[in-house]
Amino acid sequence: MSMIRCGIGYDVHRLSEGRKLILGGVEIAHDRGLEGHSDADVLAHAIADALLGAAAAGDIGQHFPNTDESIRGISSIEILKRVSALLDKEDARPVNIDATVIAEAPKIGPHVAAMRKRIAAALRLSEAQVNIKATTNERLGTIGRGEGIAAIATATVEMVGRDRRARPHRGRPGGPSLPS
Ligand SMILES: [Zn+2]
Repeated sequence: MSMIRCGIGYDVHRLSEGRKLILGGVEIAHDRGLEGHSDADVLAHAIADALLGAAAAGDIGQHFPNTDESIRGISSIEILKRVSALLDKEDARPVNIDATVIAEAPKIGPHVAAMRKRIAAALRLSEAQVNIKATTNERLGTIGRGEGIAAIATATVEMVGRDRRARPHRGRPGGPSLPS
């Protein structure tokens, strides 16, 4: 019997001049890009956190700290590949991803197909297992003023192999329960 688990991820990065805008592994033409230690792909980061959350394997900051000079400027598609390898070790197999990008500009819709393709490839999933949506913040607050871009994601994983470990200990039916 397998066990299905869910995780959630949220991330936000500030937009600034002189940076490329990378979302879901796709470079998008825009007057500003997201600031960060990596390529600041806010969508990939939210997805990474959702996957790590579903596998109860901590968070992105713990695995890819912004104090680690070896990963300065790292592509977040590479981060997703590393998260995928980490999930393998935890015997967690991704089932599906759903994510929403919250941005006032640029328009995300025309890039969704390419993002799904890149994210699915990084995680060794089919494109049908990765859904990406986009919305604006209705010009409300910091995101609404275009100061940054946020993303939220959920991930479902199936625990394979070692799932017995995660089940609560039960004694023999009718018999005394064994010390755990
Ligand atoms: Zn981030």
